[in-house]
Amino acid sequence: MDMNAFFENALDGLRDAGNYRVFADLERHAGDFPRATRYRPDGETHDVTVWCSNDYLGMGQNAVVTSAMKEAIDRCGAGAGGTRNISGTNHYHVLLEKELADLHGKEAALIFTSGYVSNWAALGTLASRVPGCIVYSDGLNHASMIEGIRHSRAEKRIWKHNDPEDLERKLAADDPERPKLVAFESVYSMDGDIAPIAEICDVAEKYGAMTYLDEVHAVGMYGPRGGGVAEREGLMDRLTVIEGTMGKAFGVMGGYIAASTALCDFVRSFSSGFIFTTALPPALAAGATASIQHLKGNEILRRRHKERVAKLRAKLDARSIPHMSNPSHIVPVMVGNAAKCKWISDLLLDSYGIYVQPINYPTVPVGTERLRITPTPLHSDADIDHLVGALNDLWSQCALSRAVA
Ligand SMILES: *Cc1c(COP(=O)(O)O)cnc(C)c1O
Repeated sequence: MDMNAFFENALDGLRDAGNYRVFADLERHAGDFPRATRYRPDGETHDVTVWCSNDYLGMGQNAVVTSAMKEAIDRCGAGAGGTRNISGTNHYHVLLEKELADLHGKEAALIFTSGYVSNWAALGTLASRVPGCIVYSDGLNHASMIEGIRHSRAEKRIWKHNDPEDLERKLAADDPERPKLVAFESVYSMDGDIAPIAEICDVAEKYGAMTYLDEVHAVGMYGPRGGGVAEREGLMDRLTVIEGTMGKAFGVMGGYIAASTALCDFVRSFSSGFIFTTALPPALAAGATASIQHLKGNEILRRRHKERVAKLRAKLDARSIPHMSNPSHIVPVMVGNAAKCKWISDLLLDSYGIYVQPINYPTVPVGTERLRITPTPLHSDADIDHLVGALNDLWSQCALSRAVA
């Protein structure tokens, strides 16, 4: 078999379906977020404004974070030098885990090399090692949770997205004696909707199920100390496990779980995705710790973030650009056609210096193709006006439907 022909053929299939992904080659400007230099395929460069970053608060370039990282590199060097078990545990990891446990009001925390790995490893370990465990997974859970659950080979039930009644029907149908684990997210990244956490906890508690909440899109941003939606709603103590990332609002990299000492120690001791991989560089741990500490005491960034989101939504409304309403910071501008979505995104980048990645199937259902816009506290009024003006031009050129007031 000609393997290269096979690979090319599979890629052609993606291209034909409009699902082939092209990376934007960017160089982010520290100190000037959300500005970046784009390297075009022809080697030319131009300045762009980034409108689709998950560095939601610009912490990735905050001097509090970058100076903590530089200091840690100067003290400890570049890499961790091993797995956590074999010479890789650095004091910065220990401090970060304490900081995370405190953030979520839990006894302990355990860090991983990414949020993806934390979901895969923690869910995989809990579901496979707790005898007879059944996992109840929200229908729109992230790929990392789905893969972790699949890898565990535990029995699983998919419940209707954000629907505690459907969850209850599924819990009630199973043997009351079997251990149960309910896995869901707080802020869902594509629609920006938020789970009814209290109602889900009510149901889970009624059936004696553990709860596992992915707060990846909420940590740093919601709650008085940035502990997430569960903190804002006073629910952190009702969740068995809270999972998060240091790679989004905290602006660095790495994932974690926060839970009881025994649960964290159990995952630490049995999870291959924790044991057999090199620990995070100490400087990342130092940067993440500084970022978390900064956001624990800084409501100003969160307030400014909310104000920017509201301003963008109001300006979109004024031009009748359709966007999905939701209670979060994610602004999905709806295009509803894969080819047009890609075309608009390309034109925004090439002609307007605006970078927003198109979101097409299979990330979202066919017919709901969109631009997922994420305003930050560092986008100015002029940035917002430029974006909305450009969208308005393209909406007219493309004869896209407008929102009805
Ligand atoms: C991004 C994401 C993750 C993975 O986190 P990383 O730190 O980027 O690996 C997990 N869950 C959800 C819902 C995410 O959107």
